[in-house]
Amino acid sequence: MNILVINCGSSSLKYQLIDMTNETVTAKGLCERIGIEGSNLVHQPAGKGKLRFEKPMPDHKVAIQMVLDALVDPEHGVVKSVDEISAVGHRVVHAGTNYSDAVVIDENVKEVIKICYDLAPLHNPANLMGIEACEAAMPGKPNVAVWDTAFGMSMDEKAYLYAIPYEYFAKYSVRRYGFHGTSHKFVSGEAIKSLNLDPEKAKVIVCHLGNGASVSASIGGKCVDTSMGLTPLEGLIMGTRSGDIDAGVVQYICNKEGKDINEVLNILNKKSGLLGMSDGLSSDSRDIMQAAAEGNPRAKATAEAFEYRVAKYIGAYTAAMNGVDAICFTAGIGENDKDVRKGICSYLGYLGIEIDDEANNVRGELRVISTADSKVKVMLLPTNEELAIARETYRLCK
Ligand code: ADP
Repeated sequence: MNILVINCGSSSLKYQLIDMTNETVTAKGLCERIGIEGSNLVHQPAGKGKLRFEKPMPDHKVAIQMVLDALVDPEHGVVKSVDEISAVGHRVVHAGTNYSDAVVIDENVKEVIKICYDLAPLHNPANLMGIEACEAAMPGKPNVAVWDTAFGMSMDEKAYLYAIPYEYFAKYSVRRYGFHGTSHKFVSGEAIKSLNLDPEKAKVIVCHLGNGASVSASIGGKCVDTSMGLTPLEGLIMGTRSGDIDAGVVQYICNKEGKDINEVLNILNKKSGLLGMSDGLSSDSRDIMQAAAEGNPRAKATAEAFEYRVAKYIGAYTAAMNGVDAICFTAGIGENDKDVRKGICSYLGYLGIEIDDEANNVRGELRVISTADSKVKVMLLPTNEELAIARETYRLCK
């Protein structure tokens, strides 16, 4: 059974075709500049080189059609016809409080995606465009929505409610949702499997450290807390997002700089985090770590603050769960930067954690990086959101 996995942005569309008999990717690719001059598709059949096609893609419907044409092409395609694709799994960012699990898409589901436009104005409209493009190109084929917010739905009120007037939750569903849920669920599940932990009771902390970054705590695969909130702004220091901040800062900067709330929120989302703290040096952690190693004081302070914030969350989540069995690092920084992993773990001696430097000297490979006698297992565990989406789609459509 072949599942097509789609992740749509407003001007981009990433895809993977996954054969679920052995969970292998048979082709993947990316359409860029949809609706903009210079649109192109980069298509890569498994085991072969990348092919680049330049053709106008005025909208997502044309983009999907190009992807399907590439997949069935006699020369560089991987299936004979679109009939060999059984279902399509879509990453959809926000379901509000409506869904705590993936769902086969019908008119009601599409309505929920629209109702949640306000909560994810950049993502939900693009996600719906991708769904409607697939419906038009492959009528009758099941489409499944796999929500970023689903994992966080198992949080208790004490974790998800903000301490603001309850009426805002009652009227507008203002609460903490959490994002990167597909990744957190996948990584915590794989950790439980590979460490042979009790699937009902295992206490796992996942640090998804990419350009966007978040931490989750889960017991038996169910999220008990996660660091992002109503929007992906809360929590860790990220590439350009501030993470946790006193809301009073917003008002103070508005008054001092004569800006309105939207402008300051834009600064907190796009000009803060690593980029802002380093005084504009870079939002890319590699640049920050390198400059820090070369002695740049702003970069050093930024790198230290990044690691410190992650360590603080790990401490808080260990307390919230009254213990932790495994801590996992994933995503761009978590999978690639041994110094960041080591730096974060240097705060965790009180948990009996010790890092094995040789084991930690690796990139993008599933492995335990703590010593054999470390009381808590620390792992590098590459995330695979596309496979997670394909698995959910398969479960609902097989
Ligand atoms: P997102 O999906 O949120 O855009 P990624 O998971 O791709 O982000 O992570 C991007 C981050 O990962 C960047 O800060 C980048 O510096 C870091 N990163 C990527 N590759 C490496 C590497 N080889 N070594 C260290 N850091 C890396």
